[in-house]
Amino acid sequence: MSETYISAALRREVIERAHNCCEYCRIGETDHPINFAIDHVIAEKHGGKTLTENLCLSCYWCNSYKGSDLSSADWDAGGQIVPLFNPRQQKWDDHFKLDGVHIQPLTATGRVTVFLLRLNAVERRQERELLIALGVYPCDEKLS
Ligand SMILES: [Zn+2]
Repeated sequence: MSETYISAALRREVIERAHNCCEYCRIGETDHPINFAIDHVIAEKHGGKTLTENLCLSCYWCNSYKGSDLSSADWDAGGQIVPLFNPRQQKWDDHFKLDGVHIQPLTATGRVTVFLLRLNAVERRQERELLIALGVYPCDEKLS
C-alpha cells in the first residue's frame, strides 16, 4: 500500500520468515496468481516503520482490504473498536481456526480481521477449496 522502498534483502527476509505464506489467510504465494505484498502491520501513516518487526507477507487481497487500517468495529460486541490481528505479536491459532474452507474467528480480534479482510468471501472460499483439494492449503502449518 506504500511506495516506500523495501530492499531486496529485507523483502527476502520477510518472505522466508513467512515461508511464502500470507500471514493473514495462509494462502501460498506460489498458489496465487497475483504477487504478494510486503505489508506494514502498522501502516506508515500511523508511524509504522519499514523494519522487519513491523512487516509481514500478505496476499494481494488481504493487503488490499486491510489498507492502512489498524482496527475495525466488532458488531458482535456492540460495535466496539478492536485491533486487527498482528502477525508479529500474535499467533494465528490463538485468533482463528480453519473449518473446511472457512476461517473461523476465535476472538474479537479474529472477528474484526475476518470481517475487514473479507477472509471468507465467496471467491476466496472457492480458491481455498481448490487448494485444499490440491493439498497445498494451509500453505504452511509451521506458521501457527
Ligand atoms: Zn491473504
